[in-house]
Amino acid sequence: MQVRVHATGSTGNCVSISNGHITILVDVGLPKTKIEKILLEDGIDPTKIHSIWITHEHEDHCKGVAFADKYKIPVYASEGTLKALNRLDTGRIVKDGKSQCFDAFSPKHLFVTPFNVSHDAFEPLGFAIQGADGKVSVMMDTGIVTPDMLRAMANSTVYVFECNHDEDMLMNGEYNEALKRRILATTGHLSNDAAAVALSRLIKGTGERIMLTHMSSSNNMPGLAAAAVKRALKKNGLKANVHYTLEVF
Ligand SMILES: [Zn+2]
Ligand SMILES: [Zn+2]
Repeated sequence: MQVRVHATGSTGNCVSISNGHITILVDVGLPKTKIEKILLEDGIDPTKIHSIWITHEHEDHCKGVAFADKYKIPVYASEGTLKALNRLDTGRIVKDGKSQCFDAFSPKHLFVTPFNVSHDAFEPLGFAIQGADGKVSVMMDTGIVTPDMLRAMANSTVYVFECNHDEDMLMNGEYNEALKRRILATTGHLSNDAAAVALSRLIKGTGERIMLTHMSSSNNMPGLAAAAVKRALKKNGLKANVHYTLEVF
């Protein structure tokens, strides 16, 4: 499975997942023309995109959803998200735990299974994407990682994981108290330490690829996020580049 993070962070998120046959996008959080540009630059032909999956209705995840209309690409999201996007009539509703299967009888099949996440949006989702040669879990904004989420993501070969902030940097930073509370809430964003704990429950050391995303530019540093994850995995006897790989975006 090929996974590429085309953009991430509060200025816009867009990830592509492909099994070489079916290519899907998770989130299109940049203006339409910008999405087009980055995909073309990254060698992805917009006319070949099978579907777009939106995690939730916040701007940094859906700003460029008009890109779907230009190329007549179907948009999949929860009912709550489609309602918030005013797309109930054209979008395709997906639900927690209900797999959508594409090319089921081909070796190039793909199953996409949505799972509920904990974020202050109408009905936010993460997606577990299973192909013949691996499973990719994409978990964008979430305040906590629940046991149900761990179950949905278990046995992935690739984890695209929110790693939003360092708690000390956030607490001592310039954000106002209300915003700090919002980010730290169970429906807010995931801290480095919380992401690290969740990954320590998921990573078995079979060469999994970890892609840390949605880093706050004010309240995090790539080195801090990577260190938190490495520390947690080391407690399980797992080393980067031996048992797993780690990339920070
Ligand atoms: Zn959000
Ligand atoms: Zn976001």
